[in-house]
Amino acid sequence: MIKKELLYEGKAKKVFTCEDPNLLIVSYKDDATAFNGQKKGRIDQKGIINNQMSNYLMQRLEKAGIPTHYVEELSERETLVKKVSIVPLEVIIRNISAGSFAKRYGVEEGIVFDEPTFEISYKNDALNDPLMNETHAIALKLATKEELETIKKYAFAVNEQLRAFWQECGIILVDFKLEFGRDVNHQIILADEISPDTCRLWDSQTKEKLDKDRFRQDLGGVEEAYQQIMNRLKQHI
Ligand code: ADP
Ligand code: UDP
Repeated sequence: MIKKELLYEGKAKKVFTCEDPNLLIVSYKDDATAFNGQKKGRIDQKGIINNQMSNYLMQRLEKAGIPTHYVEELSERETLVKKVSIVPLEVIIRNISAGSFAKRYGVEEGIVFDEPTFEISYKNDALNDPLMNETHAIALKLATKEELETIKKYAFAVNEQLRAFWQECGIILVDFKLEFGRDVNHQIILADEISPDTCRLWDSQTKEKLDKDRFRQDLGGVEEAYQQIMNRLKQHI
């Protein structure tokens, strides 16, 4: 499949059309941003790692019964995906307190929850992705009640699958963000990416951060952390 025109350039990926109108080619960049684009940088090899990691995890989820946009890996940075109409929500599942949750509620990082939490934010950079509840999303017609039920069911199922997998790799899945979309048949499927850009991943033993927080918080060793996550994944596939 050959790229036709650039449809969209985001902060971490470029999205191209191709000969098949129902498919897109996603190309992963090394560009890194944080705090809604205020902090900008580059993480060497990130595009390659995120592409391959996301594809591996999506195939794993697909086998577990969660439909995804993944079709075929075309090259180290490029993947063929099903074109979806994105539901403009950032769906976040948390197993442990961190990031904006810790800040919002004035609690420390590292509180292990008895049950995972589910939250949605309106995917809107101009508004800084405001947190919303399900009735708000329905009122604004961002998704139907049925779609939200499906999204929630899939998001918790993704958590169970990924948590178990990362545990085998000696990694704690702290939290993550998902995006869903509607395919040609109007069915909800998992889209976008699953990578250290979109998940918090801590070493099980040392609790060392091995994800984009190293970039956000200027902790150093950013490339090494992404590489380490990829190596641990490869040892378990
Ligand atoms: P952002 O838009 O937040 O800067 P990216 O750089 O990752 O993010 O850009 C990728 C864009 O492609 C995102 O807006 C995402 O919602 C969208 N996207 C991801 N998967 C699909 C898909 N299968 N079909 C259509 N759009 C997608
Ligand atoms: N996340 C993301 N994109 C966003 C916001 C959050 O991928 O635009 C991920 C983030 O990497 C973390 C989880 O979602 O794994 C929860 O993020 P949080 O709400 O704590 O926000 P942050 O601290 O990243 O601002």
